[in-house]
Amino acid sequence: MKKDFTPTLLDFGSVQIYLARHFGFCYGVENAIEIAFKTIDENPGKRIFLLSEMIHNPKVNADLTERGILFLQDTNGKQVIPFEELNEQDIVVIPAFGTTLDIEKKLRAIGISIEKYNTTCPFVEKVWNRSEQIAKKNYTVVVHGKPTHEETRATFSHAAANTATVVVNDMEDAIRLSKYITGEKPLPEFYDEFKGRYSEHFDAETDLQRIGVVNQTTMLASDTQAIADFLKTVMVSTYNLTEENTEERFAETRDTLCYATNDNQSAVYGLLQEPADFAIVVGGYNSSNTSHLVELCEEKLPTYFINDADKIISDSAIKHFDFHHKQELISNDYLPKKDPVKILITSGASCPDALVEEVIKKLVSFFKQASSVEKIAKQFA
Ligand code: SF4
Repeated sequence: MKKDFTPTLLDFGSVQIYLARHFGFCYGVENAIEIAFKTIDENPGKRIFLLSEMIHNPKVNADLTERGILFLQDTNGKQVIPFEELNEQDIVVIPAFGTTLDIEKKLRAIGISIEKYNTTCPFVEKVWNRSEQIAKKNYTVVVHGKPTHEETRATFSHAAANTATVVVNDMEDAIRLSKYITGEKPLPEFYDEFKGRYSEHFDAETDLQRIGVVNQTTMLASDTQAIADFLKTVMVSTYNLTEENTEERFAETRDTLCYATNDNQSAVYGLLQEPADFAIVVGGYNSSNTSHLVELCEEKLPTYFINDADKIISDSAIKHFDFHHKQELISNDYLPKKDPVKILITSGASCPDALVEEVIKKLVSFFKQASSVEKIAKQFA
């Protein structure tokens, strides 16, 4: 069934807000948060650790730490509390991104169950299963993902347990990889160029002859498609393949984005059909899926990436994140002096809806003639 990606118009009069048809929390994140809080309630007096940030949302993670939860690693996988400090009485919650086989092994060795408090999202597990299917047919797995992201590290580890695996971050990486497929670059250079991103015993000569692409569930759909299409073309021309025998060298896989990433990205395309003055994207600054929504909006209009309503300092200044340079900036005069002002709003899969509501309330408060949020909300009750 064709989905409707038309945004919802919240017409306050002097300000019109277009809200993406799909935005915010996904199944995996809701499920993970529910399990984490349930674990706290059911285990009074026990030490409860989270392997790393539950989700990429500072407010949710702050709520969890306030309830006594401790983080074992930061988002880059750097150990904050050593595994040696754990004992078998402790509880370790595996986040929605899943984790590596190596870490699972370490926890099991301590005597900690990894099944009971595992919140790995089924859509991430689906990617692992897809990798396994490719591996069984003797293809090498090319993972399109951010090499340091927890989910990509977990997917890499699961794929690498079954077959040769390499991670590409973007199209530039895919082009670099292709030079070893075509023989344009000497194979020994592969090991330097892709250092830390290929599996143990990877043989650049034999392991790049049959490949299949899977992706981190939160990448940009169009990027993954472009990378898969490009690598397929490289295989076809290198090995003189025809439509009938392409599968001998290139595994046909549809992208492994999850439904939430797909719907939120499609809803942004729908949102961008509306002529507007600027866009606001709400979400954690280290959230992969949120940054892709920002990327889409930036192509069309001024876009402010904020993680909280407090970042809207006043009607003339907004503090926002430039994810390209990983820094917060302050922009002035972001609200144009016109009537009505049209604003597009969406949020990432790890952003609670309450944050979006706060952002809308804050923006509307700057327009003295605007209808109240309560009045407009009633139209949707
Ligand atoms: S973004 Fe998708 S894969 Fe990630 S936790 Fe949410 S539903 Fe699962």
